[in-house]
Amino acid sequence: MSASQSVEILLVEDAKFFRSVIKSQIEKQLGFTVTCAETYAEAVTILDERADDFFLALLDLNLPDAPKGEIIDVVIEKSVPSIVFSGQFNEELRDHLMQQNIIDYVVKDSPASIEYVISTVKRLYNNQSVKVLLADDSKTARYQMRSLLERYKFNVLEATDGLEALKLLDENPDVLLVITDYNMPKLDGFEFTKKIRSHYSKRQLCIIGVSTYGNHALSAKFIKVGANDFITKPFLNEEFFCRVSQNIEMLEHIRALESSLITDYLTGLRNRRYLFERGEAMLEECRNEGGFLIAAMLDIDFFKKINDSFGHDGGDEALKAVSNYLRHYFNDIGVASRFGGEEFCILIHQDHTDDIEDIFETVRQNIENLNVSYGNRALRVTLSIGISWRKTADLETLINAADQCLYKAKDKGRNQVVIDQL
Ligand code: GH3
Ligand code: MG
Ligand code: MG
Repeated sequence: MSASQSVEILLVEDAKFFRSVIKSQIEKQLGFTVTCAETYAEAVTILDERADDFFLALLDLNLPDAPKGEIIDVVIEKSVPSIVFSGQFNEELRDHLMQQNIIDYVVKDSPASIEYVISTVKRLYNNQSVKVLLADDSKTARYQMRSLLERYKFNVLEATDGLEALKLLDENPDVLLVITDYNMPKLDGFEFTKKIRSHYSKRQLCIIGVSTYGNHALSAKFIKVGANDFITKPFLNEEFFCRVSQNIEMLEHIRALESSLITDYLTGLRNRRYLFERGEAMLEECRNEGGFLIAAMLDIDFFKKINDSFGHDGGDEALKAVSNYLRHYFNDIGVASRFGGEEFCILIHQDHTDDIEDIFETVRQNIENLNVSYGNRALRVTLSIGISWRKTADLETLINAADQCLYKAKDKGRNQVVIDQL
């Protein structure tokens, strides 16, 4: 099934309550497997046998048989990245920990610390699919930042000057974060930032400028030319991690928000708003590339009766089942959206219409044969479908024509496909 199911976390913690809460929350929220060790000895045995299996270790510093954080040396030796927690931290211990190769530390003093651990684990897992572009002419600086970024499991690309960085960005438009130095040959950090901003907004890609200690004005200038944030060299690993994570999280929140604006909450299908936006673009593609824009309106038959017999929740299950089917079926060939209530609209752009009747006849039959389970009852649904590919100037007229055919399908007895007579 999903990739996350093979992710395994080692949790070394003697306090039963903390251990069981962390384990159950990680399993429930993230779907990862958590292997627990209650003592240092137990953890060492597990690590000796299969250290390579672990994506990450969560370590309690004070274990009954190793009260001084000895466990850290073991995981570092085995190269397992780790997050450390303890009942209390003092400055000295914190500095000592952050100098070692651990990812982060957490004080176990409130329920919020559990949430922090879970979100950090999730962050690290997601980082694997996040590309970061690092632009700095200093080999030492690149090495330091690259090691840190890789410790946090990011995908790192490196450039030694602004021009090379621009080229890399061009080849990797899916870069989410750019970290750039100011002083670089060929193209400096400001010019590089300005160039990025002429193509990517702050909602698409974040930029962290790196400014050198002693040149205070650099940070403000970086922000003014379009950076989201800045960091001053030399920096603490901890600050670097916090800034990088915070910027990426902000970007992810914006993306989630943007996605929720075009997604129907109940069914996960695209919503009507997206349909009209995408539909206009598809019409434009048709005008430029030729071909047909095909619109189909689909409506569940006698849906009121389904609600009456199975309740509103039963009706919702039927909507979700039909939607899942439509999403998968049309994934590669068109756009499937929930138009409203129990009505769906499909748009397809292709250079012929020969297979359209077959495509939708298959949908009709498969929905008719779909077994929707609701509790211990089985629920059946059928669809009436109207289709049009009239060459028209606007989307609304096309969708209305498909809707007229849908009415005809209803009139003729439902559970059938009607195609516009052109
Ligand atoms: P027809 O075959 O003519 O389409 O009959 P119908 O009963 O399917 O159509 P009608 O438009 O009369 O009724 C649609 C019903 O769908 C009414 C409304 O309460 C119900 N409905 C709309 N949205 C939802 C929803 O999100 N969940 C559930 N459970 N019901 C919904
Ligand atoms: Mg209906
Ligand atoms: Mg209806």
